[in-house]
Amino acid sequence: MTELTVATLQPAQFIDITGAVQRAISATGVTDGVCTVFVPHTTAGITIQENADPDVVTDMLYALDQVVPLRNSHYRHAEGNSAAHVKASLLGSSVTALIKAGRLQLGTWQALYFCEFDGPRTRQVWVTIQCSR
Ligand code: ZN
Repeated sequence: MTELTVATLQPAQFIDITGAVQRAISATGVTDGVCTVFVPHTTAGITIQENADPDVVTDMLYALDQVVPLRNSHYRHAEGNSAAHVKASLLGSSVTALIKAGRLQLGTWQALYFCEFDGPRTRQVWVTIQCSR
């Protein structure tokens, strides 16, 4: 398993980690297989989304704020970051992607995004690779 460190700079932020995950794959020498990228946090998540237009992830953050308000009188969690917990669960803690010829197989417009919802913080991302040969 490879552990990546991601330093987030904003309270909520999507960070493209495709390059770091690809470097982790390349370091193993695996040419064909499956890569699992796991976020071991309860207020951050991971998703695959468009990287061509940066407005897409900006709009994702906006839409998540509409669905999950930052403050709500019904929230009970004393830490005060319930919205971040809910957003993290909506996006999920892991993604799986295929590896072919040593390269992460993503669609033309796809990238792997670490999704911060309670930053800024220093976060971890765990990458594990299973070789299919
Ligand atoms: Zn909390």
